[in-house]
Amino acid sequence: MKAIRARILFLIPAIFLLLSANAFAGAIMISGAMEVETEIMIAALDNRREHKIGVWRFVSGEYKGCPLIISVTEIGGGNAAASTALGIEHFQPSAVINQGTAGAHHRNIHKRDIVLGASTLDIGARKVGGDNALLGNRVYDASSGAFVDKIDFPANANLLEIAREVGRSYTHGKIHEGKILTSNAWHCKKSVIKRLNKQFGSLCEEMETNVAAQICCDYNVPFLGVRIISNNELTDEEYDRNIGELCQEFALEIARRYYETVK
Ligand code: SAH
Repeated sequence: MKAIRARILFLIPAIFLLLSANAFAGAIMISGAMEVETEIMIAALDNRREHKIGVWRFVSGEYKGCPLIISVTEIGGGNAAASTALGIEHFQPSAVINQGTAGAHHRNIHKRDIVLGASTLDIGARKVGGDNALLGNRVYDASSGAFVDKIDFPANANLLEIAREVGRSYTHGKIHEGKILTSNAWHCKKSVIKRLNKQFGSLCEEMETNVAAQICCDYNVPFLGVRIISNNELTDEEYDRNIGELCQEFALEIARRYYETVK
């Protein structure tokens, strides 16, 4: 009798632990703003499961044995911030890759080229019209337990290295590595784009990467931004939203290889 009671007492916490364990442990979250930036990845998942957290869509599953969460952030910084934070809270991913389309900031960067975001900068955080100095955003620093000013966010070195390796077999365009510039604006004027490139050294612009990077920095989650060029105002290469499809295969392969290193 005593032995049975002891076994039951042992089983209760074990069952509790099992039920509360994160079923998505180690999963990598890949985010994209629009359907054309996420649907290929969602279709590639085995054991697909839909999740709605707040108003945002997440789809969990496995890609070639790698557990993934695909996050459809919707367009813009506010959406990227909210969905990244909710996704991290809910799934506790081992890394986040934010990917999608972007406009080039240089004449030598063309449609279908891919930019690996060695770092990402929010150009809203600066004095405009004065000296244009960057002000930085308030970001949580785990070591001091306080929010501090931070200007740009470097990519996680392992993710970036793996992205370089994946880039070696990319056939649709060139691979560039550098700064992704984020804001809620779409710059159309050639002179403005040239000035941004000159002042900040940006390779491309879009609306989500820096914000997702900031939230990952807050939570201390490894992050990488990857963008495919869908338009170049400087060379009159017009926007093609469907180009977003090519970047998804690239991101899937980064996630799969990264998972091999952390599982
Ligand atoms: N509503 C259109 C355009 C998308 S708006 C559509 O549905 O096709 C901008 C989105 O594309 C954002 O998610 C942004 O990250 C990306 N983007 C692509 N090129 C951009 C550019 N030149 N400037 C800013 N964002 C760009």
